[in-house]
Amino acid sequence: MALERTFSIIKPDATARNITGHINAMIEDSGLCIVAQKRIHMSEEQARGFYAVHADRPFYNDLVAFMTSGPVVVQVLEGENAIMAYRTVMGATDPEQADAGTIRKVHAENIERNSVHGSDASETAVSEIKFFFSDDEIVG
Ligand code: ATP
Ligand code: MG
Repeated sequence: MALERTFSIIKPDATARNITGHINAMIEDSGLCIVAQKRIHMSEEQARGFYAVHADRPFYNDLVAFMTSGPVVVQVLEGENAIMAYRTVMGATDPEQADAGTIRKVHAENIERNSVHGSDASETAVSEIKFFFSDDEIVG
């Protein structure tokens, strides 16, 4: 097992409902540490770039509109096997498929407005962290 970092976003559906603290509590209860976080309003350019991998998917334009519709909280999480550990805490993309007790089961509104993002692999974690944070903003 290795100490790892992953990138997280608390999405606009969650900031709109004022539940970022509750989501952070679920993250911390799982053993992950929040080693950087900031509340930002994603620009359209940032959202398009961040989700470029989904550019050909039918939901891409709606997803960009959603992610720029209000503030988000971008975070760096650290812990043992943080990437997979956080995906377990988040639950499945579609909250109807998510396990009981996961962030998405408890809080997500639907498959798009699903409250959180987490990196899916070590390479994407590194590039997503770099996309939003400089090294001196991360205090482990
Ligand atoms: P994320 O990348 O946000 O952590 P994920 O890896 O579980 O979520 P992806 O397949 O990477 O899911 O999709 C990225 C995001 O696009 C989803 O979290 C969701 O907000 C949105 N999305 C995915 N599938 C759909 C869909 N079928 N309809 C609408 N929105 C979708
Ligand atoms: Mg994904």
